[in-house]
Amino acid sequence: RGLQGTSAQGCPLVCPPCGALWSAHTVSLSLSPQYGMVFDAGSTHTALFLYKWQEDKQNSTGLVTQVMVCDVDGPGISSYANNPPAAGQSLKVCLDTAAAAVPRENQREAPVYLGATAGMRLLNITSPSQSDQVLAEVAKFIQLYPFDFRGARIISGDEEGAYGWVTINYLLQSFIKCTFEGKWKLPTSAKTLGAMDLGGASTQLTFTPAVPIKDKNYESNFTLYGNKYNVYTHSYLCYGKEQAMKKVQANLIQQSSSLSNPIDHPCYPTGYQLNTTLGAIFNSPCVSYSGSANLNTLVNFTGTGNASKCQEIIRGIFNFTACGSKTDCTFDGVYQPPISGSFFAFSAFFYTFDILKLTPKASLSVTLDTISKFCQKPWTQLKAEYPTEKEDRLRDYCASGYYITTLLVDGYKFNSTSWDNIQFQKKADDMDIGWTLGYMLNLTNLIPSTSPGLVRGQGP
Ligand code: AMP
Repeated sequence: RGLQGTSAQGCPLVCPPCGALWSAHTVSLSLSPQYGMVFDAGSTHTALFLYKWQEDKQNSTGLVTQVMVCDVDGPGISSYANNPPAAGQSLKVCLDTAAAAVPRENQREAPVYLGATAGMRLLNITSPSQSDQVLAEVAKFIQLYPFDFRGARIISGDEEGAYGWVTINYLLQSFIKCTFEGKWKLPTSAKTLGAMDLGGASTQLTFTPAVPIKDKNYESNFTLYGNKYNVYTHSYLCYGKEQAMKKVQANLIQQSSSLSNPIDHPCYPTGYQLNTTLGAIFNSPCVSYSGSANLNTLVNFTGTGNASKCQEIIRGIFNFTACGSKTDCTFDGVYQPPISGSFFAFSAFFYTFDILKLTPKASLSVTLDTISKFCQKPWTQLKAEYPTEKEDRLRDYCASGYYITTLLVDGYKFNSTSWDNIQFQKKADDMDIGWTLGYMLNLTNLIPSTSPGLVRGQGP
């Protein structure tokens, strides 16, 4: 798994970055287990990933496996803006679980990172002081544990995208491979997989284009195992699934003539009603209210289950005209070279398509047809078909289905042929796909930049 070859195939258990290739037996004698943890503090929830690898005394590269993932109860840390100490407390159960999973003698050396993503990026826009307090409280709480705390910070959208790309390509052995003969080998082509991540508040696209990246603001450069990679990466703040759903509600409100009557929501199923307030919708910097009503005003949405109208209102949350006649442009004036190669789409891309039974792959026409049919199912039928699904999630799958196809087809410019190069996945090689593994690999120097002599495959 990961870079780990099986000893049955003859690959060494570790691939030291320099020096001779060691046999699994020799290596195992000089190894001690290392553990590392990363909190993914997302906009809707936090999860703790615990990783393990073998590190030899000569400080060589380890091969990482995921030991466990612990989902923190409750909302994302940005939701604790008015009670920052509770953000720290919320991590307790997962930290206790990790402390029980890591042997005592390995705890002091186990690095712990907390990376916060777009929920905290948004809080940092609306209230930098609250955002700082939340980060300070989670940092304080993690330091109550005997781990090697290495910081709690908001990671940038570009980092989030780039580390997701590193994770996938590490797990699928794009950087270095264990061959059939049981040797570690650098790939002959620099082909990598693109990464698409859909969070609650932002979405990321990262891939190696076939043409040079014209706008250097969108380029990240890596040297891994001696190979150079120039990747295009962009994170769209406010285009995560939850914020996109808010934009749809906001547009419907702005287009309605009166707030006293129920507002038709074409993406909600027939028979579904949502009673909310203006304040609950316009509570984010991703949407703004230009009307004069008080924020306590009640708003009532009525589902009409109208697939084509839903698709139309979803299109309306993107500014496609901002690209003018530019072809290497997605929406909102964002530069993107033509998509190229194969892609993994994970997080809410996966969750949405999993419910719609479109994973790991379905053609674009089947996908659109499936979403259309789903959108037309009445609420009573949906609840009967998905009895365990949370209601606010179930209500949104029609909209998020069309949101995904619109983003990928009208935005990123996938067509019915290139669509087949996308796999909607949550895991690879038994490990969760996301930015956390790439982040830890980078910060703990587990991926060397230099080309290891041993990698050229002179086995023992
Ligand atoms: P974030 O919290 O920013 O990482 O966003 C995660 C996104 O995935 C949010 O839009 C969640 O609503 C969605 N999500 C997370 N877990 C699930 C799940 N089990 N089923 C459906 N959607 C999910």
